[in-house]
Amino acid sequence: MLERALAYLEEKHTCPHCKEELTLCYAPPMHVGDGLGWGSEFLFICLNDDCSLFVNGWDFVENQYGHVGSYRHMEIPNSNESYNMMVAGAGAFTGSIVDVEALKKQNKRYQQEKAAIAKLDNCVEAHDLEPVLYLLTDNAASPADRKRAAEILISLNDLDCIEPLRNHDFGDNHIEQDINMAISKILASHYLRECPFCTELVKARAKVCKHCQKELDKA
Ligand SMILES: [Zn+2]
Ligand SMILES: [Zn+2]
Repeated sequence: MLERALAYLEEKHTCPHCKEELTLCYAPPMHVGDGLGWGSEFLFICLNDDCSLFVNGWDFVENQYGHVGSYRHMEIPNSNESYNMMVAGAGAFTGSIVDVEALKKQNKRYQQEKAAIAKLDNCVEAHDLEPVLYLLTDNAASPADRKRAAEILISLNDLDCIEPLRNHDFGDNHIEQDINMAISKILASHYLRECPFCTELVKARAKVCKHCQKELDKA
């Protein structure tokens, strides 16, 4: 759906009534009037309030149907179908405008997530922490892939993962638990621990933190 929306955004549609560019909107769930679907999640709609169709539509609807309403010119993407769509007011569809910048951002994130997932298979062999860190610190990535990344983290056994992960807000207890577990294992395998006072890494058997000089409990 995302890629289709981005492809549609490249299409230019012009209103035959006012020559203004049409706006890509999310389609309402049902075909107004006959209850059929639009066959498209998106519609191009003329939202120009000075459009002659919209301006003249009020009188037409009043005379024809005896209620308040007008028309917006609408085209279905990737087709030659166009309609005069009845609307109850100027605000109709203004809340359904596709947010181009948000979509592009989402798409970029999605592409990066896909690239990171593809790299998971041989990142241990390649000693490549980056795709694992990317997935673990992308809260929108799929939970299953993040769980897998947390497991791979243990195999990578790289202390460089600790700071980026400790500085990230996961907003999800499950993945955070997996990561805490992984970090504990990595630290243990390096005979290290985090100082509970200053968070610097110190030897597991140290009695005093070499960074903050505080006395440490037995590990
Ligand atoms: Zn128009
Ligand atoms: Zn310390």
